[in-house]
Amino acid sequence: MRVSIDRDRCCSSGMCVTNVPEVFDQDDHDSLVTLRQTTFRPDQFDDLRLAAKLCPSGAITVIEDESAERD
Ligand code: SF4
Repeated sequence: MRVSIDRDRCCSSGMCVTNVPEVFDQDDHDSLVTLRQTTFRPDQFDDLRLAAKLCPSGAITVIEDESAERD
């Protein structure tokens, strides 16, 4: 699984940071989303899918990797 963030779309709601703080963070200067990790464990996949679904601006895209182990 890969996760893409679009900082141009992010509205700094912080929803992703609240839901998955080990993966998402907000920049200290502009409060826009940043990623703490670029590779993810299978046990994180559902949380990442939920973060993408709940992002109010559609700034998070989850890209399923067919070759990776699925949960
Ligand atoms: S939930 Fe979406 S809009 Fe809110 S901080 Fe995260 S990426 Fe930005």
